[in-house]
Amino acid sequence: MGISSTKEASNGVKAKLLEAVVDEMQNGVLVIDAKKRLLYANPFFEKTFSAAGKLEGKGLSEVVKDKTVLETVDRMLLSKEEKPQEIAVQGKGGRFFEARLVPFLISDLQKVIIGFFHDVTEEKRVEAIKRDFVANVSHELRTPLSSIKGYAETLLDGALDDKKTLKNFLTIIDRHANRMTALIEDLLTLSMLESHQMPMSFEPLDIKGLINSIIQGFEKQAKDKGIKLITDIGKEIPKIPADKDRLEQVIVNLADNAIKYTNNGTVRIFARKTDNMLQIDVEDTGIGIPEKDIPRIFERFYRVDKGRSRELGGTGLGLAIVKHIIQGHNGKIWVKSELGKGSVFSFALPVKE
Ligand code: ADP
Repeated sequence: MGISSTKEASNGVKAKLLEAVVDEMQNGVLVIDAKKRLLYANPFFEKTFSAAGKLEGKGLSEVVKDKTVLETVDRMLLSKEEKPQEIAVQGKGGRFFEARLVPFLISDLQKVIIGFFHDVTEEKRVEAIKRDFVANVSHELRTPLSSIKGYAETLLDGALDDKKTLKNFLTIIDRHANRMTALIEDLLTLSMLESHQMPMSFEPLDIKGLINSIIQGFEKQAKDKGIKLITDIGKEIPKIPADKDRLEQVIVNLADNAIKYTNNGTVRIFARKTDNMLQIDVEDTGIGIPEKDIPRIFERFYRVDKGRSRELGGTGLGLAIVKHIIQGHNGKIWVKSELGKGSVFSFALPVKE
């Protein structure tokens, strides 16, 4: 084989390799000609920008609806400017891209534009979650803090001299400070669970003993609200591998909610074995949850009624913590609820390790 044919062969291999690279790329690649038609679109671009498959030969404006892209391409084709441009682009189905448009002269007369589209939807989503989270935490801390400040200032302005007012205000300050402590504790727990830094030690756990001891702690709270507390624990409940403290936190949070959101009714805790799982249900006859809120109830800070939750000392983080702990045990958690009738929060944990 002569020198030139070896070179040709290796060029052929190179071209094939380049094609494979562009085909497999998880970024959109596009070549637009001077008449604003698509000379080439890689599979990723076709998949994310079109439902109709092959795009070659189509007009750019048929495929990309984003005005900034169309205007930038127009400008680039008309001007002699050779500088690449970076723009933010909205795709279909609520997706976001960062696009880099690069003018490229094939010959003196022929100019094309190569576009690279990087999907940043997920990054944007995570950023939005972080932003919301910081805003929520700041708001949640600011509310009790400004109350504490308000009452302290009123006391310093003279209310201090009236013993009855003093006691009254100090009680309120104490309640708000407790709320802040609860919030910070829940935030730390959640942050440790989310970053997998919460140490969990799995040991065979007697769930019946745990439920009975938890129930005792709630008896006074339930009695004060006219609630009957009942346990219904099946026979032959096996021990399950679980972290006792964390599971206690789950049942305490669910029972606490059941009592918080019920007046004069019944709260029942069931435990039973189903297939290879142990299922616990915490059932109440309380206010229930509107159907539209159910899918979001396990999100951090999501509350059906913010005012009511705060009034009752809630942080809006309890169910997010519960969900993380159950997931850390390879379990499942779900809720059934009917507005005005009551709710059943259920979780199931594997019986065997
Ligand atoms: P909170 O501290 O507000 O109770 P949670 O994360 O424990 O926060 O619960 C989130 C929201 O879910 C509550 O604010 C409430 O609206 C709703 N919720 C939770 N448990 C119940 C229940 N047993 N009955 C009715 N609503 C409930």
